[in-house]
This record gives sequence, C-alpha cells and structure tokens, in this order.
Amino acid sequence: MLDVLTTPMVAGMVLGLLWLGEALVPMFGGCSAGGRLRNMVMGAINALASVTLLAAVTVSATEIARRHGIGLLHVVEASMLTRAVVALVVLDLWHYVFHVLAHKVPVLWRLHQVHHHDEHVQATSAMRFHVFEVMIQCLCTVPVILLLGLDLWQLLLYEAVLLPVALFHHADIRIPERVDRVLRLVIVTPRMHWVHHSSWTPETDSNFSSVFSWWDRLFGTYRRRRHPERIRFGLEGFEASDTRTVRGMLATPFCGRRSSYGTRPEDPDLEAEERDGREAPVAETPRVREGRGATMGS
Ligand SMILES: [Zn+2]
Repeated sequence: MLDVLTTPMVAGMVLGLLWLGEALVPMFGGCSAGGRLRNMVMGAINALASVTLLAAVTVSATEIARRHGIGLLHVVEASMLTRAVVALVVLDLWHYVFHVLAHKVPVLWRLHQVHHHDEHVQATSAMRFHVFEVMIQCLCTVPVILLLGLDLWQLLLYEAVLLPVALFHHADIRIPERVDRVLRLVIVTPRMHWVHHSSWTPETDSNFSSVFSWWDRLFGTYRRRRHPERIRFGLEGFEASDTRTVRGMLATPFCGRRSSYGTRPEDPDLEAEERDGREAPVAETPRVREGRGATMGS
C-alpha cells in the first residue's frame, strides 16, 4: 500500500546501498561526510517545505479535482494501471519542462545554481535544491494536477519512483558502460546525468530528464561523454566556499555572484564526437550568458 512513508523508506534503503557503492567503486572519489550532511540538511529543509505545501496546496488541488470531476482522468474511463502510467509519464514530462525552465529563466536559474555549484556530485546531490525552487515547482504543479485530474496516490507514486532514481543517477559509482547504456534506454543513469553537472554550459544545458531518459532524446537535449571521468563538476564563477555551508547555499540566489559560461573541456573524444557529427556542434557564446546569474541580490 502506497502511503507517505513509502518514499522515505525506499529512498533510505536505496541511499544506504548507494553509499556502499560510492565507498567501494567510486568513479570520481572525494565524497565527504560533511558534503553528504550538508546536502541532507538541504533535503530536510525541502522535505519540511514540501510536506507543508503538499498538505496546504497540492492535496487541496487533488481534492478539488476529485470533488468537481476536473481533469482528463476524471472525464475518460481508465483503469488503475492506465491512470498510474499516465501520471508517471506526464509528471515526468512536467519535471523535464520545469528543469529546462530552471536553466533558461534567470530568476529560476539563480535558485537552481545551488544544485549545480558543488564540485562533487554524489547520491545526496539529489537533495541539494534551494527551498524556494522546491516551493515554486510545487506551486507550478497545481495546474498540471487540475488539467490531468491527478489524485494524491498518483503524486505519491511519482515521488516514490523519482527519489530513488534521482539518488541513483547522482551517485558517484563506477557502473560498467554497457550496463549504464542498457539502463539509460529507459531511465536516467549516472553517466547521463554527470554530463548535466559539467561546468561547461553546453553540457550543463543538456540531459534534463529526471526519471525517463527519453525526453532528452525526444527534444534534442541529449549529450554524452565517452569518458565521463574527465568531466569537471561545478559552476565557474563560484568558489568552493559558496558550496561549503548550508548558509552559503541558501544565500546563493541573493549573493550577486554570476556563473560563467565555463571552460570548454580538453577532451579529445569530445572533439572527435563533434567532428563526426554525433554531438551537435556548439558555438561559443559570450562568457556570461543571457540569464546566467544576473545579479539579484538556478
Ligand atoms: Zn539542472
């Protein structure tokens, strides 16, 4: 039976396994207890905000949709399985769209930078989001709930799938390429998502999918690195001191710091892939992009 305790219980077990993997077979190394703790504190703040907002807004939206028969799934006849699949697919598409917006809309990018400016990517990076971004995304999900006529159990189902997959694709684990390749036919894998955490903007602005990997292929935002171990994580323009404290992370959107375009990686394979046309050629643009960290006080 799916309830509000399912997601944290499953996520806790998955996180334990991933920590074991990060200790035994790391791809990059450098995961520290302090870094994990800070990410988890951010996750706890976000969970608190989510639970509060979930009770106040999201649950109300599902109740309004159910009571008044609002939304597609309340109009058409559909089995439980169909409703579950539609909810998973549509909510994941919505996550893809919001993630793209988080990179393209300046005010959202100021918030989303918190997820990107760590120079280490590890399983707990999946929890490292600014609380304002989580709240905005939660509020923006209300129209999706009403349009589709989603019930609470469908939202909980998506969360129960999303969190373990997100922990997995952030994990610093050396998974054989052939295994990763098979998995990423369906879900987002570490080798796919590490590219998204590259400090080079063309790679940062790629691989936006959350659970199902096909959105990036469908919308032309998929990139790969044959040798992901050469990826440099973080955001140029931010120093480690910005990422070392919870206070620094919470203050990031208001610090006035700009993330730069990032240095093009020195990776012969990357150049070969672009020359062969397997990756879309990328034109260098001005060092500070439109929407990249204009001062405010993703
Ligand atoms: Zn992102």
